[in-house]
Amino acid sequence: MNTVRTKAELREALAEPRRQGQRIGLVPTMGYFHEGHLSLMRGAGEECDVVVVSLFVNPTQFGPGEDLGSYPRDEDRDAELAALAGVDLLWMPDAEEVYPEDFSTTVDVDAALTGVLDGAPERRGPSHFRGVTTIVAKLFNCVQPQIAYFGRKDAQQAVVIERMVRDLDFPIEVKVLPTVRDKDGLALSSRNAYLSAEQRERAVVLSRALESAGRAAREGERSTASLVAAVEGELRNAGIDPEYVEARDAEDLTPVTELNGRPVLLAVAAQVGRARLIDNVVIDQG
Ligand code: AMP
Repeated sequence: MNTVRTKAELREALAEPRRQGQRIGLVPTMGYFHEGHLSLMRGAGEECDVVVVSLFVNPTQFGPGEDLGSYPRDEDRDAELAALAGVDLLWMPDAEEVYPEDFSTTVDVDAALTGVLDGAPERRGPSHFRGVTTIVAKLFNCVQPQIAYFGRKDAQQAVVIERMVRDLDFPIEVKVLPTVRDKDGLALSSRNAYLSAEQRERAVVLSRALESAGRAAREGERSTASLVAAVEGELRNAGIDPEYVEARDAEDLTPVTELNGRPVLLAVAAQVGRARLIDNVVIDQG
């Protein structure tokens, strides 16, 4: 595996494969790799000739008071894991390389997609997604992959990026791969590192509650208000006060009151100790 820092090195490393018409896959990450990241890298390896992983803890997607300074980092371990997962090129740019002092352009996807599912909009919501879409657009332009890989764990992010790619005509296929979970169901996340043993035990209720809502839907429950209330109830019983629990159309994120044959995203966000956790299930009526 080749590790590069600058855009010039990245361009040089990709010049020959590009000239040969090789298929380039990109997995954008913020590092501190777990099986979720590694499944994206392996998925990319199955379909692409060259797998590029970007590792950049993007400051512009963190809100004030969020965990930018303490976000877990371990470049050496990440490089080892990426190499084992078959990654060809690891790109770890510095902030100055990505955002020169007079950086002045952003990419905004409409608030219909970015201003929803944000129980605490001052922390998440449009400014968070502005950070995400701007960095992802830059990564796309620097790497110019044919395919880019994202995780369903961040379902709203995937919807927002798919829309950006469509609207701005990026010649890139976006693939969204399933959420990877711990044995007990907890969705893997770099932020799980913040959880104490007791918090880790409580956090499993997010996936359990979503799982039982999915079951209720399969058994005939049509009202999303009932499904949401059941999830909220389970979380509160475990001592967790959710930031939001919401049912939305999985493709355009409009609110859904009755399951109607289209895939519905049931999504939850909750603070558990220092960790803001998110999880979701797609209730697929198809
Ligand atoms: P992050 O480093 O948290 O920004 O995540 C980088 C990519 O990995 C994003 O596309 C995430 O959606 C994806 N990802 C994070 N956690 C998981 C998971 N548990 N399962 C699948 N993909 C994940």
